[in-house]
Amino acid sequence: MNRREFLLSTGAAASLGLLSRSAAFGQTPAIAVPAPAPAKSTVTVQMPPPVTEFRPLRRNTGVFTGRGGTIGWLSSPAALAIIDTQFPETAAICLAGLPGRGGRMIDVVIDTHHHGDHTGGNGTFRPAAKMIAAQKEVPALQLAAFERTKQDLERRDRENHAATPTPAPSAPTYPDFLFGDSWHKELGDEVMSAKFFGPAHTGGDIAVYFERANVVHLGDLVFNRLYPVTDRPGGCNLRHWIAALEDITRTYPPDAIFIYGHGKKEFGVTGTPADLLVFRDFLTALVEHTDQQIKAGQSRAEIIKLTNLPGWPDYFADDKTSRLPGNLGAAYDELTGA
Ligand SMILES: [Zn+2]
Repeated sequence: MNRREFLLSTGAAASLGLLSRSAAFGQTPAIAVPAPAPAKSTVTVQMPPPVTEFRPLRRNTGVFTGRGGTIGWLSSPAALAIIDTQFPETAAICLAGLPGRGGRMIDVVIDTHHHGDHTGGNGTFRPAAKMIAAQKEVPALQLAAFERTKQDLERRDRENHAATPTPAPSAPTYPDFLFGDSWHKELGDEVMSAKFFGPAHTGGDIAVYFERANVVHLGDLVFNRLYPVTDRPGGCNLRHWIAALEDITRTYPPDAIFIYGHGKKEFGVTGTPADLLVFRDFLTALVEHTDQQIKAGQSRAEIIKLTNLPGWPDYFADDKTSRLPGNLGAAYDELTGA
């Protein structure tokens, strides 16, 4: 299948969870999400070529933006590292254009978590990387998400009486080095340390710290002024996520540069601890709002009708693409133990 072609049916997009409501990801979205109309026909969406950029940050580190979660990089005369891999197409652009690479192997590719917009380019980096590392929960979460996606597509095909089956998604490329709570690796005159703060955005998120540069990649632990992806089957835990954000702000220096998986255009994909606390406060407000609604006797169906949370104008999203209903549903399920 052409990498830029995504077969979507309106119902399938909603049932795919991660793929749904992704249009506001802050970078060119991976999947164009159709309006939640009742139509059941399958449509082919032709994506425009990705706009990509390498932006240096500090002491041989930088970010690459293209399609999907922000890639962090280290490129020094002694070592090369890549944090997250987006999708095959932009991973190839990143690999080919990485400043100062000069044909060298990448010493380490590391995935911040299992989601496809952060690991979809693993296979592209695989032949050029000495290792692909991740937190130990990641492979099982990748496999489970892959199986769910396949089953969703098969179910949609059955429901739509599809004449030809929708092509199966590509199987994930798994990391080949796993760690638990933390991991350190010397990279020339830099030290990279990865740390697991417990279940948050997923069950296997890590922060990756370039200690000398004082730059921290948080993956999707922060959506910078965007309603987040709340993937309960993937291990999302909102209340623990709030605690993890506080733990993170205490763990790293206040003058660290933080990299976020996604950010609203005006706010960007890098920032300071203040952004982490804004996002912590947003998640807290989300959980409190949902709790109040439950206590007021509202049903789940009523609660998830809301498309923008009052009092959070920076997070404002279009009603049709807002991820807030999914966030409210995740909060409801977590609070009620569903
Ligand atoms: Zn994610």
